[in-house]
Amino acid sequence: MAHIADCPFCDARDRVLRENEHAFVLLSNPRKVPGHALVIPKRHVEEPWQLTAEERRDIFELLDYISQKILAAKLGEGVDVRQNYRPFLQKGKLSVRHIHYHAVPRTQDDYIYQVSEKYDTELFADLDPLEAKEVGKLLK
Ligand SMILES: [Zn+2]
Repeated sequence: MAHIADCPFCDARDRVLRENEHAFVLLSNPRKVPGHALVIPKRHVEEPWQLTAEERRDIFELLDYISQKILAAKLGEGVDVRQNYRPFLQKGKLSVRHIHYHAVPRTQDDYIYQVSEKYDTELFADLDPLEAKEVGKLLK
């Protein structure tokens, strides 16, 4: 699975900001905020655990690179780095199977906070000891 014909990230080379041997970085389109970037392995990989050690090294090298560029350009005072593995979603503009990591500029109370993370702290609950034991057993 080196190249998939209908995969937008297998054919996204025209927007590349920087690349190394196994990965490249480009501006996300669509994006959440200006400077929202994606770091993508060159090989079409759909599950994070299918990445080779070399691909992981190159992906995280570019995540460090673009995060520092975002901060230096003052597009954000911080950066969220995330990878969403959601095979249950329909393939489409907002769900590309080719694995990618987001680097999203963030500031205190920014637009993302205002529209989607304002109540995030309410999602946190103290970890119940029984849950810790049972779920811990499942994940050990
Ligand atoms: Zn692909």
